[in-house]
Amino acid sequence: MSDKEEREIQRFMELDSNKLTKGKERELAIQIEEDIMKQNEVLADQINQEFKKYNIKSIDIVGAIGAGKTAIIEKILEKLASKYRVLVICGDVTTRVDANRIEKHNAESIQINTGRECALNAYHINQIIKNKDLNNYDLIIIENVGNLICPSDFILGTDKRVTIVSITEGEWVIEKHPMLFKMSDVAVINKMDLAEILETNVDKMINDAKKINPNIQVITTSAKTGKNIDKLIEIFGLEN
Ligand code: MG
Repeated sequence: MSDKEEREIQRFMELDSNKLTKGKERELAIQIEEDIMKQNEVLADQINQEFKKYNIKSIDIVGAIGAGKTAIIEKILEKLASKYRVLVICGDVTTRVDANRIEKHNAESIQINTGRECALNAYHINQIIKNKDLNNYDLIIIENVGNLICPSDFILGTDKRVTIVSITEGEWVIEKHPMLFKMSDVAVINKMDLAEILETNVDKMINDAKKINPNIQVITTSAKTGKNIDKLIEIFGLEN
């Protein structure tokens, strides 16, 4: 795709996101959106095949800002970094705060800054892995940009997608984001150490997740106390 074409698409997407397109422009905007998502799916499929070829397990972790995505990854690394050769890809709009945290846990990490984009896409992941020797890894963990909406549009080609919410986000957080839970394999309800103080209805959150996606596995955790981190590792199909 040329720079000019890319700019043109960007312009359409911006117009469309503001619902300013109509008639032919609107049709074109919808077509572009569909094409982008289709291309993303094709690339995600290639990425998954590539991971399988090298016998790499892969997880995409999604959740709002402050849900505890990085904290959970840190807890997992405390247990697994000596057994698995791990690459953690951290997505954020800006900064490398998360990558710096991860590196303290004996794992390689790469920070992707997405700028104005509110989710990672398969293209981002492909850019990373095509510059890496995949023989060097057993496990790739991707921490998506903190957001509960945008990641629904882009799968990344991982074996599992995990969505983390925390009880501080309120008991409606799962009910309000059905798209994401429909496409997730695991729902993690984090910050259970605060359950007594907050009196959040955790049962409702668990039931909502199962109602939206009967196949989803739901687990309550605390990255602070380490509650159920072992179980989470088991759910991921990893050896503790
Ligand atoms: Mg983070």
